[in-house]
Amino acid sequence: MKMMKCERPLWGGDGMPAGVCDGLAYGPQIRESGPLWLSAACPLHGGPRIQYDVDGNKICATVEGFRNLQEDPAGFGDTQAEALRHLHEQLSQPKESTE
Ligand SMILES: [Zn+2]
Repeated sequence: MKMMKCERPLWGGDGMPAGVCDGLAYGPQIRESGPLWLSAACPLHGGPRIQYDVDGNKICATVEGFRNLQEDPAGFGDTQAEALRHLHEQLSQPKESTE
């Protein structure tokens, strides 16, 4: 799975198009945030957020909607930043086949 980018168009103060958001996205929009947007959306635009948990003495970063370690990626680290970086590594690698 490649890291996704938010493709929500941005508008300048004068109503003219101002490119796209280009923020890191962890999946499609899952909550109301203006018009429904089916492609990748960053957390600010209604996409899944990163959530942090403590697992033993490590911080665990997962994407909102996380089910379990077998099915969904998770990043571990001593700090939130480290856990998030590890999660990004998991997300950028193709998922290993379990067959
Ligand atoms: Zn965005």
